[in-house]
This record gives sequence, C-alpha cells and structure tokens, in this order.
Amino acid sequence: MHMGSQIHATLNEYAGILLEHIPAGVALFDARDFCLLAANQRFYHFIQTHLDASRESDTLIGHPLAEWLPAADAAEAAALVALFRTVSETGLPYQAEEYAVRLPNRNLVYWNWSLHPVPDEQGHTIHLALYGRDVTASVLARHQVEEAHVSLTRLHTTTVAARQQLKVIETVARSARASLDTRSIGQAAVDAISASLQPLRLSLHVADPRQQALRLLCLSSTQARDAGLPSLEYISYDSPLIAAQARKGYDPILVENVQDVVASGMLPGDLPLLTPDMRGFICIPLWLKDHFEGTLSASFPEPVHPHGPEVQTLLGCSPHLTAALAHARLHAAVEDERARLRAILDQLPEGILSSSAPLRNQEGVITGALLVFQDITAQKRLEHEKNAFLSLASHELRTPITAIMGFAEILQLSAEQEQRLNPASQRALLLENAQLSLHCDWHDLLAMLNEVIASQNITAHGQSIQLVVQGCAATEPVRGYFDEQRIRQIMNNLISNAVKYSPTGSSIEVGLQCTSESPEEALLWVRDHGIGIPAHELPLIFERFHRASNLDQAMSGLGLGLYLVKELVARHEGRVWVESVEGQGSIFYVLLPLQRKA
Ligand code: ADP
Repeated sequence: MHMGSQIHATLNEYAGILLEHIPAGVALFDARDFCLLAANQRFYHFIQTHLDASRESDTLIGHPLAEWLPAADAAEAAALVALFRTVSETGLPYQAEEYAVRLPNRNLVYWNWSLHPVPDEQGHTIHLALYGRDVTASVLARHQVEEAHVSLTRLHTTTVAARQQLKVIETVARSARASLDTRSIGQAAVDAISASLQPLRLSLHVADPRQQALRLLCLSSTQARDAGLPSLEYISYDSPLIAAQARKGYDPILVENVQDVVASGMLPGDLPLLTPDMRGFICIPLWLKDHFEGTLSASFPEPVHPHGPEVQTLLGCSPHLTAALAHARLHAAVEDERARLRAILDQLPEGILSSSAPLRNQEGVITGALLVFQDITAQKRLEHEKNAFLSLASHELRTPITAIMGFAEILQLSAEQEQRLNPASQRALLLENAQLSLHCDWHDLLAMLNEVIASQNITAHGQSIQLVVQGCAATEPVRGYFDEQRIRQIMNNLISNAVKYSPTGSSIEVGLQCTSESPEEALLWVRDHGIGIPAHELPLIFERFHRASNLDQAMSGLGLGLYLVKELVARHEGRVWVESVEGQGSIFYVLLPLQRKA
C-alpha cells in the first residue's frame, strides 16, 4: 500500500512530462457529454494540422466533441460521436486501425487510435481516454511497397509474355531463314505459336491470286476433327468470312469476345467455324508493302485484349511470317521462271546461253532476278563442225581398217591400199573426210565394185556377196566421173552393214544397173536378207547417230555410217534410199551420176 501510494505520488509528479513525451496524442473526455477535459500537445497539434488550424487549445478544452469536429464532414463527425457514445454506454474499448483522415490539401493521413472507458469506483464509465498515433509514414511506406510489388508483378508478367513472344518470333524468324519452302515455314510458325499461346484454332492462309482465294496452308486445332475445316480450306476473296474481310485492310480484325457478338445477334451462333468455347478471335492480314501474302487467324477460350499477350505475340510474329512467306514465294517464282526459261531455251535453236541469279536486298529477301542472255551461235557452229569431224574420223578409222585387215590376211595389198596403211596419209584422209571434199576423176565403176566385193567377201561372216549387173555387160567397163575413194567408202559401208545385220550363211547381193537409155547415171544397190528396219524408223535411218530399235545390244556401231553415205552421195549429186521389211531384209539404193558436170 505504501509502495503503491509512493508510485502514485511519483506518477503524479512526472505525469505531465510523460504525457508530453510519449509519441502519441492523448486526450481525456467526459463520458456523458464528450467534452474534452485534458489533452497533450501532440493531440492539439493533430487537431490543428488535420482538422482546424485556427483551433487553439483553450477553444477545445471544455467543449464537446461534436462542437469542434469539422462541420464539412458532418456524416463522419456524427459517426465519431456515435462511437464515443457506444464506448461510454457499453464500457467496451474501441480500436481503429489506420483510420484515414483527409486533410484540407486533399492528402490522407492515417491514425491508429483507440478509445478506452475510464470507470469510477462503482464501475461506471465517467471518462473516455483517447490514445492516437500517426501511422501515415508507415502506411504510405507499406503502400509504396505494395504498389512496387504490384508493378513488379505486372512487369514480370509483361517480361514473361515478352519473352514468350520473343521465343515464338525467334522460331518463326529462324524457320524463315532455314527454309525456302512455304509449307515448312508455315508449319514451324503454327507449331511455335500454338505451343506458346494454346489457341483453340490457329490457321495460316496464303493468298492465291489466280484463284482469287485464300488457301489454307497450316492448321492447328484442339478439335481432333475440326468441323470448320471444309470452310477453311479455300476462302474466296468475296466470302463473308473474316479472313476474306481482313484482306480489305491493313489492320488486324480483333473480336474481344465472340460470344458477346453472337449474343448481340450480329453473328449467327450456328456457324461451323464457331464453337461454344470460343471467346477471343483475331485475324491479321499479312502484307509485305502492297503485296498481300495471306492471313493468320487465331481463336482462344478466353477473351482477348488489344494489349494482351495473345494479340501482342501474334502481331509480333506476323511481320516475320510475312517476310518469310514473301521470300519463299519470290524464290519459287524465280525458280519457276528459271525452269520456264530453260524449257524455252531447250526448244530454241542452239546459240543462246542464259544464266540467272536471284537479287536480294540487305535483309537477304529476294526482290528480283537477273537473267543473262548471250548469243553464242558462232561458238556453237564451230563446236558442231568439231563434232562432225570427230564423228566422221571415228567412222573412217573403223571401216577401212576392217577391210584392210582382210587384205592383210591374203597379203595382196595394192600399192594404193598400202598407202592407206601409212599413218600420215591416213591422217590426211581423215582431215579430208572432215570436210567431205571430193577429188573426182574418170574411173571404172564395175572394176571398183569387183574389188570392194572381193575384199568384203574376205571379212564377211559366212555370208556370200554376189555382184549382179543389169542393163550392161558384166565384162565391159562402166566409166563414170566420180571420187573413187568416196564411192568405194559408200559401198564398203553399205556392204559391211548388210554383213553385220544379216545371218551367217545368207546371201548379199551387190547390184549395178546401167542402161543405154540413161547412160548418164548408174544405179547401185546392196540387198540383204537380214533383220530389216522397222517401217516407222525408215525416215530416220540416215540421221546421224540413229540406230534402229530392233538391234541386238551386242551389235557394235555408232550410227554414223549411213549418215556419211548420205552426205557423200549428196556431194556427188546423187540420191540414196532404202527399202526394207523388218525381219526380211533391206535394199539400199544409190543413184550415181556418171557424167562430168560442166
Ligand atoms: P551403225 O551400223 O554403226 O549402227 P549406220 O549408220 O551404218 O550405223 O546404220 C544406222 C542404223 O541403220 C543401224 O544401226 C541399223 O539399225 C540400221 N541399218 C543399217 N543398215 C542396215 C541393214 N543392212 N539391215 C538392217 N538395219 C540396218
């Protein structure tokens, strides 16, 4: 007790100092009329700064609460008075956390305050003690932290979305660089976008100007069998579908919530492309400058917003996709053009050389093509002549050697034939052959034929070669003005063919007809009973390199002999032709002028 009263005495002594130094406003009210009985400086300061600057402490003391609360906020003042009354009547304390008070400058201050009943010895509340602390600084700091957190979260979401968007864009850009094939570019883009945004349906259409329609390139759909597929495959430019409408402008068409549009009656709900779970929809026309490449459309199970990740990602991807599609299209066009020109050039007479190369801009996009045409007719002609020379040379090498080998066997080589063995003269002969020049003189055609047949009989494979003379005596010379070497070559070629293309043991007839009615010409022929020539190939048989289709693969030859025969006969102003029945045999005729031309 003594101790208690001492404490009390000490408290009384220091109460004033304590009250002025605690970091809170303290006030004591009468519990019946809520008159302010006493308060510390901090309480007055609060009233003056926050409620009424003109209030002096002496105009507050002894005055009821309702009197000095600001009249401007009558409702709040009444609520406060009601609060005081409740505490006074119930005897239960009241606690307010972060009580916001709007200052005249419209700023907010926050107070934690409590009102405590002070009972008398009988337990009746006679006073109300108010304790209040300004917590504005900590509330504002917390608000800042919360705001920072919110904006950080927002930033994080944006970063995640941007990264996702970047990933998709990167994939699309990479596939654009990696491929020049429209389908694989489209598929890579659709796969990347679908994996990231999980749309209900994502469709990529490419423009088909020839058909005046959009052609479905790639589709990704959550439905295993998308009922909308048939209407998506080809969308005519004048179709009412959004993809066709999008082509009419440069801006994307965005429907934030398809179901709202359906509910408003602007869109029938039973369209095959609409599904009940569809909400957001966007269709982006893909334009490269003024060239329409196609459209990219996507629908989502949630509504979409112009700044949402779906729309932003798709918008971010679309320029890359557009450029890739344009690149692929131009590449295909250049390739087509190259193929077309090749085809045309193949039809043209030789002499035009073309080369082509795509032209790219700084980004590597093909913007055109360079085609070079060069007239190389002169080179081609030279090349021709060279080929003709080589062909003839190879044939020339073959035929005389066959005959010469036979002669060698019987060691009866004439001086002339000996000469042909001489490599130097043979080379000269080859060069002459190349030009097919003639050295004509008077010769005995019959004697020459006899020699040819004699030599051919030696090398024949069991065939017998007979001479038949008609219209004149087989003993009389048949004189004619011709290049003996060439006519010998012609007959050798025809007879060796007859030997080659007829069976062992068969007979070969070499004929000569010269009549007094037409002494100016002789008819020569070689008849065999061999494989013959298919009728449809007869017109081609004198062409260079033509070999008939009925030949045994094992039969050697170049297809040059008859060509040479035709050329040499033509030089003599004669005529050569053939009659043949496949499987029965052939007759080659040569009509040779015998007279010397003026
Ligand atoms: P090669 O005999 O070297 O093939 P040729 O120009 O001499 O070339 O003959 C051309 C083609 O004509 C031969 O490949 C052959 O198909 C056909 N031919 C030529 N002569 C005869 C013949 N007497 N009987 C059947 N086919 C022949």
